[in-house]
Parts: sequence; structure tokens; C-alpha cells
Amino acid sequence: MDISSLVREAQDRGLNLADPEENVFLADLVDGKSDFAYKVGDTVFKCEPWIFSLYANKLRSHCYHCLRRPDIAEDQEIRRCMGCRFAGYCSENCQIADWKNRHKPECAILKGIIADKRLESEGNLDRLLVLLKIMTKLKRKEKGSAPGDCTPESPRTFDDLMSHEEEFLDLRPELKESYLVLKPYLDRADVEKKRKICPDFPTFIRLLGKFYINNFALYDLQHPNVVAVGRGIYLGPSILDHSCVPNALQVDVGKTVTIKVIRNIDKAENVRIAYISPFDLLENRKSYLEKRYFFTCDCPGCADPETIAKRNAMKCSNCATSIPLGAENLRQCSKTPACPQCNKTNQEAFHRALKSLAELRAFIVESKLNDKNTRKRSQDDIRALMSTACEVLASDNFVLGVAHHDAASRLLTLSGNLNEGMEHLLAAVSIRREHVRDYCYHPCFLIVKWLAQQERFMEAFALIAEVGDYFRLVVGENSQMYQAWIGNVFDL
Ligand SMILES: [Zn+2]
Ligand SMILES: [Zn+2]
Ligand SMILES: [Zn+2]
Ligand SMILES: [Zn+2]
Repeated sequence: MDISSLVREAQDRGLNLADPEENVFLADLVDGKSDFAYKVGDTVFKCEPWIFSLYANKLRSHCYHCLRRPDIAEDQEIRRCMGCRFAGYCSENCQIADWKNRHKPECAILKGIIADKRLESEGNLDRLLVLLKIMTKLKRKEKGSAPGDCTPESPRTFDDLMSHEEEFLDLRPELKESYLVLKPYLDRADVEKKRKICPDFPTFIRLLGKFYINNFALYDLQHPNVVAVGRGIYLGPSILDHSCVPNALQVDVGKTVTIKVIRNIDKAENVRIAYISPFDLLENRKSYLEKRYFFTCDCPGCADPETIAKRNAMKCSNCATSIPLGAENLRQCSKTPACPQCNKTNQEAFHRALKSLAELRAFIVESKLNDKNTRKRSQDDIRALMSTACEVLASDNFVLGVAHHDAASRLLTLSGNLNEGMEHLLAAVSIRREHVRDYCYHPCFLIVKWLAQQERFMEAFALIAEVGDYFRLVVGENSQMYQAWIGNVFDL
């Protein structure tokens, strides 16, 4: 059975999925305007990496060259390079291709590297793997991609990338220590050449800074939870700016990065991807973008007062309509806002909504902390917090959506209470869909599986069809994403 028969089956049961009103992902597709620079599903870039690197902690499980997980038994070792016994491959083809273009110059340097205990500390091995690849490219004087590596062709070179080296070092003082550990290896990589690629600490910081600010994460899409397995520099797409309400999306097939349009876009220069999860609190996104990428986001979700007020909306206690809460409402001692529908005010409900918003924020911040003690909160606390929030806040309140997501993971890990956790995950998805719709799919496979177990087939069908439609229409029927979705659904 494929997606279209599932859709038919769902329709037979009275669910009209073809109706764009019912399916927000189809709404842009049926928009008849022709003067868009890009329409939903269009490809903005298709690009091979300038350099890429598998995460050090994936060396045992994933191919060093194609980043795929080879089909081997648990107790079987991945095929290793005989020279360094370090790089692992899924096949002879990958090993040969990697040797020719990438691995040969670094192989001798990586020999025996596992024994160096200093490389085990946070990030050192990953930094070395990335730097060796950058140095190889620069030694060959390859500052840009080869023709055809990127469509449309991009004139960008590695020299064009920003490094923000001073801010970068301020934020990561541990890099001084890291440099001392890595220096002997970098010197060996530089040794035969007159022109040294990484001769000193400032160059080390500049090369790493360029990498950290501009890299794209690469994912294992065969994994139901879509885990990141490596990173790469993609010179064409690295020109794209960020938005927390993105209109384009990174789609991977192996290490090829494709940027696809998820909303109709009026002008080519307005294409925006999300560098970070757009589904986080405004203050968290803002501080992370400033710290990690050195800019202040001016997207609608961060800077448009109307959007922000909608994202904080409370529920009218009289008619349940959403009442947006703008900055003027969120200030202390502000006037109680009136409902736009019934025009009634309710001071008590307003104060409860403000209190609930503040509590949800504290809960979300706390959920990010890894320290178990600060996360000490009983299941009953979480239940009480969420049930008040659902009562007093608008049903599409963005903060509530983030809290639903965190409540799901906290309840699932706290108690293994699957049903309660999954209800929160489902609620999180339906709010994400309203604000950052493309970002609602990652947990959907788990949800579909759970719905099926609960014999809630109508909801399962609707979600399968919605996600399937989205992947097929936006990402393409031949994409790894769509195939992985179909594959996972069939495995149910
Ligand atoms: Zn491979
Ligand atoms: Zn090797
Ligand atoms: Zn933003
Ligand atoms: Zn009302």
C-alpha cells in the first residue's frame, strides 16, 4: 500500500485530505500566483561538500565516505582502512573513492591516533578531522568548489566565509588548550610543503571559526529519530541567511545538500533557512544566534510585534477566542486586554495567563539543563503546570507548544509513561504546524506508531498522509526522506 491508497482509505472514512483548508501543506501549492521567484518544492541549491567530516563518535557505526550506516551485524566490525585502522567504510567502492580524493594525505597522520588520550577530551578529535580536510584542500589550492559541485554554480570560495575569529575565541577559551594538543598533528600535515597552511594559533582559530559559523549538519535519515552524523562546508548554500520562520529547508541525500523551498517566495534574495531549531523560546533563540553566529535575528518570530503577540496569546475565558499578548501586555501592571471577539475583559484570567507563561518559560529553561538536581520536578508538578497552561493560554500558543515538547520528553524519561508523553508530543506537533510547519515532522514517525498501537487509526492515517504529502511534494518522491518515511511506515 502506498501513500495515495492510504489517502484514499482515509477519504473513504470521511477525511478529506485533498482539501487545502484541511491540509496546510497543500495551501501554498494551489496558490495560483505565478510571479514567485520560487514555488513550493523548487530547488534553490544542490551542492556537494567542499569538505565534510563524520563525527568522531560515529566512526564505529557509519561510513567515513558516504556517511551511511552499513548493513552489518552488531558484533561485526566496520571495514577499516589498513593504513590507519581508523577510517571505516561501508564498501570497497567508498574506500577507493575516499582514498583518491580525501583520505590519502591524512592517513599517515591518523595512524595510532586512538592511543592519544588527549584527543579524547571534548571536541579535539573532531576539530583535527575537520582541519586536516581543510588543509588538504587549501594545499591543493582548492579554495572553491569544482565546477558542477553546486547548482546553480556559486562563485563563493573558502576565503569568502566569515570567521568572526575574535568573538569565536572569546567564547571558546578552551581552544588555546586544544591548539597545543593538535599542533603536532597539524605540523605533520604541513611538513612537506614550503607554504604552511596552519602555521600559528591565529590561523588555527580563523580556519575553525569559518568552519563553525558556516557548516551544515548532515543527518542519518534512515534512523527514525534523524540523528546528525557529521558536518560539512557547502560554499553555495552557506550564503543563505537565517530565519526562525524559514521558507526553505535543507534536504540531504548522503552528503549532497539540497535546499528546497517550503513556501512560495517572492524574490530570490528572500530565501531563508533555519540555522537552529525555530521551535524554541524567543530568548533562547536570540541568545544562541548571537553567541554561535554573531548576529541578532530580525525574523518575524523575533522582531515583528504582531507575530510575537500572537505567539503569546491567552484564551478568552468567555468565548475561548485567542487574545494576543504584546509587549505592552506582558509588562508588569499592564491593563487587562479585551477579547477581539466578545470584547470582554477578565483580569483574573489575564493574571493567570501571565503567571502560566512565566512558569512555562522557567520549565523550558530548566528542561535544557543536564543537571538532574535542577530538573527535579515531579510528574504531578508537570501535569499541574501543563493543565493550567492548556486552560488559560490560546491553543496555538507558541510557548505552550515548546512546553508540550519538553513535557513529553520529561514524562517519557521520568516515568516511561508512554501514553501521557505521546499525547504531549502530538500536541506539540499540532502547535508547531501552525508556526513553523516544516519543523513538525521529526517526531511524527513515533507518533504514528503509537497511534496505531492505540488503534487510533483515523488520526494515524491523517498524519501518515499529511507527512507523506509533504515529503513527496516538497522534498520529492525519490528523496531519501520520503523513502525513509514510507519504509518506516511499512515496517509498522
Ligand atoms: Zn560508504
Ligand atoms: Zn587510513
Ligand atoms: Zn528569528
Ligand atoms: Zn471572548
